[in-house]
Amino acid sequence: MSVLDLARPEIRAMQPYSSARMEASGGEVLLNANESAWAPVGDDGLGCNRYPEPQPAALVEALATLYGVRREQLLVGRGSDEAIDLLVRAFCRAGRDAVLIQPPTFGMYAVCARVQDAGIVEVPLAADATLDVDAVLAALTPAVKLVFVCTPNNPTGQPVPRTELERLVQALAGRALLVVDEAYVEFADEGSVADLIDRYDNLAVLRTLSKAWALAGVRIGSLLASAGVIALLRRIMAPYPLPLPSVDAALLALSGWGQANAREHLAVVRAERTRMCEALRWLRNVREVLPSQANFLAVRFDDAAGAYQRLLAAGIVVRDVRRYLNLGDALRITIGTPAENERVLAVLQETSP
Ligand code: PMP
Repeated sequence: MSVLDLARPEIRAMQPYSSARMEASGGEVLLNANESAWAPVGDDGLGCNRYPEPQPAALVEALATLYGVRREQLLVGRGSDEAIDLLVRAFCRAGRDAVLIQPPTFGMYAVCARVQDAGIVEVPLAADATLDVDAVLAALTPAVKLVFVCTPNNPTGQPVPRTELERLVQALAGRALLVVDEAYVEFADEGSVADLIDRYDNLAVLRTLSKAWALAGVRIGSLLASAGVIALLRRIMAPYPLPLPSVDAALLALSGWGQANAREHLAVVRAERTRMCEALRWLRNVREVLPSQANFLAVRFDDAAGAYQRLLAAGIVVRDVRRYLNLGDALRITIGTPAENERVLAVLQETSP
């Protein structure tokens, strides 16, 4: 059985929209897409009067090389958020199918499921914030088409060992697509599982340029999966999802100079994560700092609301994860520059009772 048999039959059967840019390329006089013949002011050769390539070849090539997959195994879109939405829309029939998540985890899996009127099966993480593969398998129902696993997990920062992910994808074969969200994998010791895509057609991996590549404002994310899944999702994707300036910025970031810059900042974040983790643990109102392999720390306080307000009064905004996650009295604090981190420590030290 192919993983495509799990997708919505109406998506598999439909005739996809065929855009002008897809139908003809290589001509010199472009009069097929109702574009303006004139470039806008300040265009500087970018060609913003023309629709962009649906999947820009140079960017797909650069990302496929970066992630170690073939071009047909990669879909590039507006952040990994778009890929999550596409997966839910392609695999879950409204009112019938479901996704499986392990709270506390990234909120968009559940949001996309709700928008699609898909069910949500929740298998909470174990008390030590690790993933329980057997509990996931025990909770599986025929309605579950997608199993989302975030590693390292947002907001706990813990990674899921590769052996566990492989056990899960094997057990899900023919039953569900495993979606491994690796938004923070660059910050982790353990690498990506994207190489397993060749072996398991029910595996999809999410990657993004928003975190380690410092391009959150540019909105470029990738889905790595079997060529069949990629082709399926292209059927429901908007015709021209990627703005030309975003594609340009991503290509620059992935150039030799851009990569060196990203590596340098990655090393700073990892060193600062260790330093912050140690320093926060010494504070009297801090109960626990969860070990993190991402660019943030989940910190349990005696009084998280108070700590949040004191930080806010000092102009520092952290994420109050109590509102939407079952993480207890905790805040999620992103690792900033060394000077920013110092400010966080100064406020929390000062006010430590
Ligand atoms: N996955 C996880 C786990 C995230 O934390 C985020 C962003 N907060 C995303 C995906 C979305 O990232 P993008 O900017 O690529 O849409």
